[in-house]
Amino acid sequence: MSRKEILQQLQFFRDIGITALDVNQPAATAVAAARDPQPSAAAANSESLVSIREDMGDCRRCKLAPSRTNLVFGSGNPNAELVFVGEAPGADEDEQGLPFVGRAGQLLTKIIDTSVDPGRITRNDVYICNILKCRPPNNRNPEPDEVAACNPFLKRQLEAIGPKVVCCLGTFAAQNLLQSDVPISRLRGRFHDVDGMRVIATFHPAYLLRSPEKKREVWEDMKLIGAELRRLRG
Ligand code: URA
Repeated sequence: MSRKEILQQLQFFRDIGITALDVNQPAATAVAAARDPQPSAAAANSESLVSIREDMGDCRRCKLAPSRTNLVFGSGNPNAELVFVGEAPGADEDEQGLPFVGRAGQLLTKIIDTSVDPGRITRNDVYICNILKCRPPNNRNPEPDEVAACNPFLKRQLEAIGPKVVCCLGTFAAQNLLQSDVPISRLRGRFHDVDGMRVIATFHPAYLLRSPEKKREVWEDMKLIGAELRRLRG
């Protein structure tokens, strides 16, 4: 296998939530075990992230394909009870093929680790993806035809994971998932029911970098998520 093929294979593993392999097991067993450690009850009957990622392939379904470096499928726990959905990859994400790895991503990691359910939930426990899988040139706003091309994959990802709670990061994700044109300041702070999921919206971490005084509201939204997860676990 060439170096490029090995990197592509590793990137594929990462996209489908494999972050570690047990090298003491035969390769196929180790990958199978890492792929689906314990499917959640909700996800038991649905397709896997693996087949959705395979289906996307080297996606050319919209006009963003030619300018992207990497398709950013999503990453994290394939059985997560909590999923975060952002807008679209930025320059760092496009470069690395992973969501929320730049400055805003580092802030998101800190928010998740310290405020949802500290000591119980870290970034490794959740799944993170975006409305769009490819970076819009110069970080311009996503366009309707791009959202339409990507949306079926996000829907399938959410069905496969079967999270208890989905948190939309920022106006764009919130208005898309909630099919609303109400401003984020009025959508946030409470739960909405969408396709059997509890959906909440909060400010985007990139906005928090510019307006740190809004961190208090995000902290309150994370506390609502923690409480809702505890309630749903029973
Ligand atoms: N902003 C987003 O909305 N998504 C990312 O993955 C990174 C920055």
